[in-house]
Amino acid sequence: MTGAGGAEARLRARLAEVDARLAAQRSAVAGIVESARDANVDDEHDPEGATLAWERQQAAALAAGAEAERHELLAALDRVAAGTYGVCEVCGRPIPAARLAARPAATRCVEHAR
Ligand SMILES: [Zn+2]
Repeated sequence: MTGAGGAEARLRARLAEVDARLAAQRSAVAGIVESARDANVDDEHDPEGATLAWERQQAAALAAGAEAERHELLAALDRVAAGTYGVCEVCGRPIPAARLAARPAATRCVEHAR
């Protein structure tokens, strides 16, 4: 193990990325809502309104994904603090470093991933 310090730095870097993505998506959603209001379109009957509704849904779904990732990363940081980071929650064996590099918030080894 390279130590928890490396893991924490990696998690914090990932968290900063997710936060930036979340902020961008939130302002995208706000922008779509705004343009829908400006255009005074009807979601049900106006083709442009339907497109805006779809765009808004897509942006909201992306934001929800980023939000979920953010919670996972925060939970992983808690595990770093508790000294249980990088240990499979099923078998208690260390999660391979390569897996943690790819998925810093992983809670399970490859064998127990699903
Ligand atoms: Zn396992």
